[in-house]
Amino acid sequence: MSTTQQTQYTASHDLHQCALKPIPKRTFEGKVSFDRQEIMLETEKYWANGTALKYYFYTAAGKASDVNGELDLVRSAFDAWKNIGIGLSFKETTAPDEAHIRIAFMRGEGSWSYIGRDCLGIPTSDPTMNFGWNLLTDPRTVGVAIHEIGHAIGLPHEHQNPNAGIVWNEQAVISAFSRPPNNWDEATIRNNILNKYTSGKIQGSEWDPRSIMEYAFEEGLIQLPKPYDVEGIHPPGNKLSDIDIAWTQRFYPALTEADLPELHIGASEPLDLDHGEQRSFKFSPKCTRQYELRTFGECDGVLVVFEQHAADGGEFLIGQDDSGKEDNAHLKLRLEKNKTYHINFRMLFRNADATPSIMLW
Ligand SMILES: [Zn+2]
Repeated sequence: MSTTQQTQYTASHDLHQCALKPIPKRTFEGKVSFDRQEIMLETEKYWANGTALKYYFYTAAGKASDVNGELDLVRSAFDAWKNIGIGLSFKETTAPDEAHIRIAFMRGEGSWSYIGRDCLGIPTSDPTMNFGWNLLTDPRTVGVAIHEIGHAIGLPHEHQNPNAGIVWNEQAVISAFSRPPNNWDEATIRNNILNKYTSGKIQGSEWDPRSIMEYAFEEGLIQLPKPYDVEGIHPPGNKLSDIDIAWTQRFYPALTEADLPELHIGASEPLDLDHGEQRSFKFSPKCTRQYELRTFGECDGVLVVFEQHAADGGEFLIGQDDSGKEDNAHLKLRLEKNKTYHINFRMLFRNADATPSIMLW
């Protein structure tokens, strides 16, 4: 064990931890099987790949205080995600009403973020992310911001992965997290630690105790698996793990214009994707007119069209989420000659017997 690790191990019970706000589990109308619901719920919060996520900093009193130096730290946390090579991009904006991610620094309010596309449901007058303590004096340095941005792109807490097989010493966990510095009530502790997230069929295939989305836990809080009962869990806390990187690249693969397949008018393209995976196409109209874009086959997904600009990537034009509905996504939109569009589809659920497809006409 290195000296650095020993320092982190000793300090784990003194760390502030992220406390997500409870969000009601989505419900579906009509006949949607339990399996289909559980699978969709695992990746439905991911953004369409290719999204240029805009972020805004509150810097005025009320939603921010003492932020000197912290803005650059948070900017570098966005770079940490971008630099692993993903199809998402991040751009700072000074207009809160056009920002997907609005970042406050309200001290004493905890650190948290809404998960992925849940940010779209938050009024533009409100933050979607908060840093409740001084990041510059936190031993994890940029790690706290990398963790919150992980939530903002759709990742949940790794210790709530049902496949981790963690059996908690519940009373010890409640006692540890109801003390300073976290001072959480039991509902917050259950929401952020003890409750396991959905089925884990997709997200939970491999538990990663070194993930940036994993908290540090002192010894005595975990009963199983061994050796975490006597050692606790001590992720580095300041950087992405190899599995974090591989996972994020799988669901947000880097998009290189030259490598994107072209969608041709009237030609059906198969969408042979696993649950949660996505595919991107490009389209350059030969004439300006109204077009229709549709998916076919038994599947649930999110279909999004971006207009590409050389300077700053894709601009969201239109999108549709058909998850849990009987009908497939069907977009009607005017596209212009001499422009380039990217079309992205993420598969949330598919019937194993059928290969869905996409067509533009
Ligand atoms: Zn968190």
